[in-house]
Amino acid sequence: MKLLMMGPPGAGKGTQAKKIVEDYHLANISTGDMFRESYRKKESLGLLAMEFIRDGHLVSDEITIEIVRRRLFVNHVEKNFLLDGFPRTITQAEALDEMLEVEQTKLDAVIQIVVSDAVILNRMVGRRSCSICGATYHVDYKPPQKEGVCDACGGVLYQREDDKHESVRNRLDIYKEKTKPLIDYYDAQGILYEVNGEKSFDAVYRDIQTLLETHL
Ligand code: ADP
Ligand code: ADP
Ligand code: ZN
Repeated sequence: MKLLMMGPPGAGKGTQAKKIVEDYHLANISTGDMFRESYRKKESLGLLAMEFIRDGHLVSDEITIEIVRRRLFVNHVEKNFLLDGFPRTITQAEALDEMLEVEQTKLDAVIQIVVSDAVILNRMVGRRSCSICGATYHVDYKPPQKEGVCDACGGVLYQREDDKHESVRNRLDIYKEKTKPLIDYYDAQGILYEVNGEKSFDAVYRDIQTLLETHL
């Protein structure tokens, strides 16, 4: 199964992705997580990428496509994966299609999480992330048991630099300009499925399960 999660920043892609990959045994490939991990390790790629990420800009297509290519195709070819946060531009989507075509395969489904701008802003500014395992929480909707501490690993929770207000608006504008056109791109391929992301965590997950079970 080859899946892709789409939706504006803060829609709940990462949250749902982590559950889907466990239940369906897929490789979880999140370009945002990959960039942040590389930054934590002080690699030149991560340091460079963070310059863009911090202000809410996209990392260049060239760099982004290359890290995905390496992750998906270099050592061994991943057969079952879920991409979260990639592609974000038409150029990236075309590059992905080409990579898959070379392996004589294609995406099975694109799950589009639909949420309004008001909900997005709330979710992004309230998001807290674990500095060790990357788990995400929300100050109101998913608080950790102990304030500031990750339930899963005890790591310190922090607010991502790009989840602060100024860069949140930037990211929404960029989403509308660069990423939203992908909805039509995948709709034209007949593999786009929409899910209402404004429901509860569990309700959104159930809707995703239902669509995977009815269409794949
Ligand atoms: P969110 O899900 O909140 O939008 P991500 O963790 O997916 O955040 O991405 C964080 C940031 O990393 C993005 O705002 C962007 O700067 C960079 N990034 C992630 N994926 C891509 C991509 N496919 N192309 C360009 N930049 C990316
Ligand atoms: P994305 O990966 O799309 O940027 P996340 O999965 O990180 O989004 O979710 C953004 C924030 O919203 C997080 O703080 C998360 O806990 C919260 N969140 C996600 N899904 C829901 C939901 N269905 N209801 C309420 N809050 C949610
Ligand atoms: Zn943790």
